Amino acid sequence: MIEFSLAGLRRALDGGEISSLELTEACLRRIEERNPALNAFVTLCAESALKEASRADSGKAAGGPLAGIPIAHKDIFCTRGLRTTAGSRILDNFAPPYDAAVVERLAQAGAFPIGKTNMDEFAMGSSSETSYYGPVLNPWDLSRSPGGSSGGSAAAVAAGLVPAATGTDTGGSVRQPAALCGITGFRPSYGRVSRYGMIAFASSLDQAGSLTRTAEDAALLLDSMAGHDPRDSTCARRPGERYSAALIPMGARALEGVRIGVVKEFISEGLDPRCQQVFSDNMATLRGLGAAVSEVSLPRLPLSAAVYYVVAPAECSSNLARFDGVRFGLREAGADSLEALYTQTRRAGFGEEVRRRILVGGWVLSKGYFDAYYLKAQRARRLLADDFARAFESVDLLAGPTTPAPAFAIGEKIDDPIQMYLNDVYTIGAALAGLPCISIPAGAVAGLPVGLQLMGRPFAEAEVLRCAHAYQLETDWHRLWPPGTAAPFGTA
Ligand code: GLN
Repeated sequence: MIEFSLAGLRRALDGGEISSLELTEACLRRIEERNPALNAFVTLCAESALKEASRADSGKAAGGPLAGIPIAHKDIFCTRGLRTTAGSRILDNFAPPYDAAVVERLAQAGAFPIGKTNMDEFAMGSSSETSYYGPVLNPWDLSRSPGGSSGGSAAAVAAGLVPAATGTDTGGSVRQPAALCGITGFRPSYGRVSRYGMIAFASSLDQAGSLTRTAEDAALLLDSMAGHDPRDSTCARRPGERYSAALIPMGARALEGVRIGVVKEFISEGLDPRCQQVFSDNMATLRGLGAAVSEVSLPRLPLSAAVYYVVAPAECSSNLARFDGVRFGLREAGADSLEALYTQTRRAGFGEEVRRRILVGGWVLSKGYFDAYYLKAQRARRLLADDFARAFESVDLLAGPTTPAPAFAIGEKIDDPIQMYLNDVYTIGAALAGLPCISIPAGAVAGLPVGLQLMGRPFAEAEVLRCAHAYQLETDWHRLWPPGTAAPFGTA
């Protein structure tokens, strides 16, 4: 019996039940079968993956905890010599000269890329519909969005095309698609993982994370991903930990002594009552594991979407200034001046949402508006972080639903930016405060998966993962496969 998780595949590879080549070929077959409908991958690197798999099988590769396991990278991580688009036309022809730190570290642990996943353009979006390469579809219901921006990674893992994938989370882009696709999405603390080689959207918020089947797998990836990197000045100067070791032992009352605060502001009128019911059931499960669950208030939390949609566009307008048609990516022909080269290239290269954000960002940073918008948003962000810090004086973890409702239909929100932005109301807060957080599959509404979100103190990754793991030992939501999707190798 082979479980299609990183932990399960490690056991199967070590026990000789399967070879890396068999595993990689199985993933490639699935991709061939399912990707035309899902549009989860933008680029494949089958040849190099098969070569890496053979090297792992022959013992020529260096080994490591993830040896022989193919994974997918969100197309926002630079991969040397392999096209990296960030979902944008402006980078359609871009093959980076170096690997992102995350790609490099996972490769050192033995995991090799099988391809790059589709995403909202420059990670701006919540539905994976803003991609230049077309929308990703949700394996649970092909008429629905998988969420975004890491929708390609989420759909690929949910449909069993790969056992795990990387993602990035600026305001929810790992947790929200994980919730809508019924898998585990983990965002470490800001600064826990190097941003080197990760194409920047909003630098004070962007963080690399993972999309996996289980919290245990998220810990296995973080073991390799975390740690200081002198090439990223915002990367924390503290060594990584053995996160997977923190998950054992785990008894029946694994959460005895753990205090969990239900964020009152999350249980608001915007929450689908069916999701609210799922969440109450989730809290009962955590209580059954010994946790003390109480209600806490983050009074400034309702400001988070407003704050985020000032800060993130401001930083994006500055980060995306580098795409000018001169140094890399698209260059529109026929410009008769430097200014025309910039404007024509950027107009042709960026999609509508990206242009909207650049305009908003430029505006909130401009003279006369800077104090009224950007500075005020930064102050509110500070107050919000203080709210979280105060809450963590009386509880160890915070909990809430990941999204206000299950997956929405493709096309339902794309023409209404405000509706799209409000889909992230529950994930933005922890991102603004830089906290480690996770979404785990925790129920179903009308046959669609729903996520439970857990948030911890800065750098308390182990605590967050431990609670999520305890929940998954007790429940089976993470073992479900979308209708019509067979578990690879015939098991959960
Ligand atoms: N949906 C949010 C946005 O559009 C968050 C995206 C993200 O986390 N990258 O900005």
